[in-house]
Amino acid sequence: MGKPTGFMEFQRKTVGYRPVLERIGDYGEIFSAPQEELLRIQGARCMDCGVPFCQSDSGCPIDNLIPEWNDLVYQGRWREALDRLHRTNNFPEFTGRTCPAPCEGACVLGITDPAVTIKNIENAIIDRGFAEGWITPRLPAQRTGKRVVIVGSGPSGLAAADQLNRAGHEVTVYERADRIGGLLMYGIPNMKLDKQVVQRRLDLMAAEGVRFVTNADVGRTVDAKQLMADNDALLLATGATKPRDLPIPGRDLKGIHYAMQFLTANTKSLLDSGLTNGDFISARDKDVIVIGGGDTGTDCIGTSIRHGCRGLVNFELLPQPPRERAADNPWPQWPKILRSDYGHEEIAAKFGQDPRTYAILSKEFLGDDKGHVRGIRTVHVEWKVVDGKFKMDEVPGSEQEWKANLVLLAMGFLGPEHYLAESLGVAVDPRTNYQAEHGRFTTSLPGVFAAGDCRRGQSLVVWAINEGRGAARAVDEFLMGHSSLPAPGTSQGAAIG
Ligand SMILES: Cc1cc2nc3c(=O)[nH]c(=O)nc-3n(C[C@H](O)[C@H](O)[C@H](O)COP(=O)(O)OP(=O)(O)OC[C@H]3O[C@@H](n4cnc5c(N)ncnc54)[C@H](O)[C@@H]3O)c2cc1C
Ligand code: SF4
Repeated sequence: MGKPTGFMEFQRKTVGYRPVLERIGDYGEIFSAPQEELLRIQGARCMDCGVPFCQSDSGCPIDNLIPEWNDLVYQGRWREALDRLHRTNNFPEFTGRTCPAPCEGACVLGITDPAVTIKNIENAIIDRGFAEGWITPRLPAQRTGKRVVIVGSGPSGLAAADQLNRAGHEVTVYERADRIGGLLMYGIPNMKLDKQVVQRRLDLMAAEGVRFVTNADVGRTVDAKQLMADNDALLLATGATKPRDLPIPGRDLKGIHYAMQFLTANTKSLLDSGLTNGDFISARDKDVIVIGGGDTGTDCIGTSIRHGCRGLVNFELLPQPPRERAADNPWPQWPKILRSDYGHEEIAAKFGQDPRTYAILSKEFLGDDKGHVRGIRTVHVEWKVVDGKFKMDEVPGSEQEWKANLVLLAMGFLGPEHYLAESLGVAVDPRTNYQAEHGRFTTSLPGVFAAGDCRRGQSLVVWAINEGRGAARAVDEFLMGHSSLPAPGTSQGAAIG
């Protein structure tokens, strides 16, 4: 434990974001540079609890050894902190930037005081590791001669690839997009996770021996059965890529897009040409309505404001969450409270008010005479609990029309697409995800495994890493009869993601 009285002496202070009006003028990361002293003080606030809830079931899904590296950072022993961090997390630079930090919701200090800034410390450790040149390619001591194919290059596929390569297997990752990274590359925008940060890790993995094949759509342009025949094991890590639609009247109008069409095209154009090729859906001078919240909704907001939208409203069907934990949501559960993310802050700073409108149901898209969307007709809803279930009723007389000439649908995802499962003959579960039990990760087909959002449904980067690591161990056991790869937490953990 760093400083026994640290938690009484020091207050929580996070590494801030860059000033709003500055950062909305570019696509650089929103984060400001961390100061070492601030992080040391935050490390000193850690109480090194006998039972560290932050790294257990309700906290970090990959069991990060948080109190250990908090202490090491307090003592200025950054290199050792990095080694501890890499024991449980293949990609701290991704979680350190994007994780909602269930660890902080479960921090014991959080019972009486604001939690330790765990996520900031994690990010600073890994960024320092790269800056100091401490992270260099490490090749496996020996190769097993076993060949593993991973389909999908998001965080679950990459975590599995990293682990299996370390175990000495020959790993090839197939990705249908033109760049590797899954939602780390084409999903989460550059301002939240710089693509050079993703590429830096990919380059390291390639130097360590992982092979990457892009523009390879397994089940369509690449024969899945042939891949099975040519390799010793196959891991499906294809994500939950089927978006939820909003099939109300007017859905066919022009100007209504899925969030991922908007976000993917923007990042691709940004990386290909700095947005000069015009191959993206522009929100410039438009009245934008984003339907749906969560990370996807926020990223649509952050991207629209950077395009120079005229105005923006964000619809949320559910009621506004409370500002403090409700009685039925005690510590150490994930706090279901009102949070303002970077996009909300940016809209409020530019247009003077938070973009979110709660308990609102879209009834119809309204069109102009050219077949383009010009607005949305909505009604307010009231939520109540009936027989233990949340139920909504429309509020009579609350109909309203909203102006919009760009509508972005960010209402979540319905699981993986099924052409690959069908071409292999892999079973799906009642939620239409690939059927495989967490902890075992085996599908209905021997030698075929599944991990990440395609198995658990849409979730979080940190859960994708948990699943990729767990699946790697299962594959290694299948190939070798035993495995010394670690098994990350097998609980279903915090009710988040
Ligand atoms: C816009 C957005 C923002 C998000 N922000 C956050 C955040 O801030 N924090 C957080 O923790 N989580 C966030 N998430 C969730 C997080 O990104 C996902 O939970 C995570 O990426 C899932 O990882 P995965 O490896 O399972 O799948 P994915 O990252 O979805 O990767 C799957 C990959 O498989 C490829 N693929 C699919 N089928 C095939 C095929 N047949 N052949 C070859 N390749 C194929 C896809 O092209 C894709 O690249 C966000 C999600 C979205 C959509
Ligand atoms: S990965 Fe997420 S939950 Fe785990 S320590 Fe980092 S921020 Fe916390």
